[in-house]
Amino acid sequence: MSRAATALLNLQALKHNLSVVRRTAPHSKILAVIKANAYGHGMLTIAEAISDADGFAVAHFEEAMSLRREHPEKPIVLLQGFADASELHDLLANNIQLVVHNFQHIEVLESIKLPVKNAVWLKIDTGMKRLGFNSDQVEEAWHRLSVIPSLKNNLRIMSHFANADDVSHSGTNQQIELFEHLTVDYDVEKSLANSAGILAWENAQFDWVRPGIMLYGVSPFLDKTANELDLQAVMQLSSQVIAVKPIKKGEFVGYGHCWQADADGYIAVVGIGYGDGYPRHIKADTPVLISGVRYPIVGRVSMDMLCVDLGKETTIKVGDEVLLWGDGLPVEEIAEMAGTIAYELLCQVTQRVRFETIDG
Ligand SMILES: *Cc1c(COP(=O)(O)O)cnc(C)c1O
Repeated sequence: MSRAATALLNLQALKHNLSVVRRTAPHSKILAVIKANAYGHGMLTIAEAISDADGFAVAHFEEAMSLRREHPEKPIVLLQGFADASELHDLLANNIQLVVHNFQHIEVLESIKLPVKNAVWLKIDTGMKRLGFNSDQVEEAWHRLSVIPSLKNNLRIMSHFANADDVSHSGTNQQIELFEHLTVDYDVEKSLANSAGILAWENAQFDWVRPGIMLYGVSPFLDKTANELDLQAVMQLSSQVIAVKPIKKGEFVGYGHCWQADADGYIAVVGIGYGDGYPRHIKADTPVLISGVRYPIVGRVSMDMLCVDLGKETTIKVGDEVLLWGDGLPVEEIAEMAGTIAYELLCQVTQRVRFETIDG
């Protein structure tokens, strides 16, 4: 029996979360965001399971190309744009939708002679100050793109939120208003909302929504749980107890001896560590779940193992399953204990972890 850490992906939960997107944004098409290996879940597995989304969005050229090989017909949007004419050539040949976010992109498009058959998204910056044309550049960018003959009927417009995860932030409404103002004269398909935008700003849904984190069953908000949003965790990260050890009051556990037992009891050693992507800098007493009961992690997380305080007496034994996050133990909670967000923890699960799926 192998005792590797396992990431069990619940594809029913994934499909349920997609249905929550549909229900919340019933008049929009859905661009499922599966960048960064589908937030660490496995891009091709996730794409296959939700292939009835209206399209996929990825960040990198290589992701777009490998997705295209498996999904010959699906709309695929490359969010980060393209590096040069050779990449552009491959993207056009593979019918990948481009995001144009600077004037170099436009120059390359003007210079190539290839017809553009796929949609091209003009990305405007409404406040994120990352990618996209500034307000005063939009008109020129639009004009230059729209006079490229093969492009004229393929243009679309998008922007991205900076603060939608904070529902009390006024910046989001300002971004929506600016987006409407800058694009009111262009009668084309538009897209603005990520997960937080979809769930909290109905007036941000436009023609296409771009859910990422909510598809994986994670709340994009600090003050709302996935449960409250009717989202279901897709990833169950688990491992097994590989040793149970008695420990005496006053003894130390782990590297650096940073935890000392204050009573006689038992420690479980669990076969997962930062080599699997479990965060090393987690706060003391972060919980794991064994048979539905929470136990605190004690001592430092090491590369392949971590230790859990089982208390004075225990029936837990070698081989018992230990849940690190998933149902009953939201990854959002673990992320908070690690001083980060669930996005990062999910992306960090390493290739050493065995990935499995259940569907139904
Ligand atoms: C990552 C990303 C999304 C998805 O964001 P979530 O917060 O995960 O829903 C949407 N649009 C763009 C441009 C992105 O980069």
